[in-house]
Amino acid sequence: MHDPIPTVTLPSGLDIPALGLGTWKMGETRGRALEEIDSLRLGLDLGMTLIDTAEMYGEGGAEKIVGKALEDRRDEVFLVSKVYPWNASYEKTIAACRASLARLGTDRLDLYLLHWRGEYPLDETVAAFEHLKKEGIIGAWGVSNFDVDDMEELFSVPNGENCAANQVLYNLGRRGIEYDLLPWCQQRGIPIMAYSPIEQGRLVHHPDLIRIAKTYQATPAQVALAFVLERDGVIAIPKSANLRRVRENRDAVDLDISDEDWAELDAAFPPPDEKLPLEML
Ligand code: NAP
Repeated sequence: MHDPIPTVTLPSGLDIPALGLGTWKMGETRGRALEEIDSLRLGLDLGMTLIDTAEMYGEGGAEKIVGKALEDRRDEVFLVSKVYPWNASYEKTIAACRASLARLGTDRLDLYLLHWRGEYPLDETVAAFEHLKKEGIIGAWGVSNFDVDDMEELFSVPNGENCAANQVLYNLGRRGIEYDLLPWCQQRGIPIMAYSPIEQGRLVHHPDLIRIAKTYQATPAQVALAFVLERDGVIAIPKSANLRRVRENRDAVDLDISDEDWAELDAAFPPPDEKLPLEML
């Protein structure tokens, strides 16, 4: 028996899984399509019913893969996609969203994010997001790669406070947001979606992580995911196109790490003691 996947509550009150599925690098190579679709479907079978994608990934290729994985099971999933900053004017945001929906083979997104800040004023992008929400085309909207000053600016534009999530780089080796952005979002009930939660696979080679994982008969990736899942209001979206690693990532939920080992992880991966600029991958 596995522990159930924990949930995180959106500002709307909707509970969504704290462990989902990333899709960056999917849809880039035709020969890998079947294993990518299978791995997403396995993730759904295992309860990781949040899928994160973007018009950027594979230049639409990842959204097409997600569309195939969801053909007969759209209703099981909390579906997230993102608009390129250079598509984030009022008109272009709406057009980009419709193009994403066509590739995904669905009529709605559950969450639509501005991928990172660009040249268009935030009030214009927010107005487009609010329009899409009113039309029922998206359930909620949010941002990605926004630091505290960006969030404050966002909150100063009309309806900016309706932001439902901020997706940022967060993992054991990238703890900068714990200093200010994470508490800022927690205080306002805005979930953080932690991207690259295993540092694109690189964390699994860290000797301290390997040592601590061994004491739990777990893998370093599972400990890295357990670290993210331990935080209130944080969602981890690991990507894997490998069935064994999808199972492994799902099983991270079962890990129960002791206070002593959390302290060891803090020593190996110290939390920030000053403001660090938000990092991006
Ligand atoms: P990640 O999830 O930290 O790592 C993915 C890499 O690690 C892949 O190469 C994967 O290979 C491998 N991997 C997965 N599970 C593993 C395991 N248990 N053991 C060892 N290796 C494992 O990195 P990410 O893909 O950059 O981030 C996750 C998702 O966040 C993305 O897919 C994307 O949806 C989102 N993201 C958003 C932004 C943004 O700007 N908003 C930026 C980056 C990422 P296999 O597929 O071969 O298993």
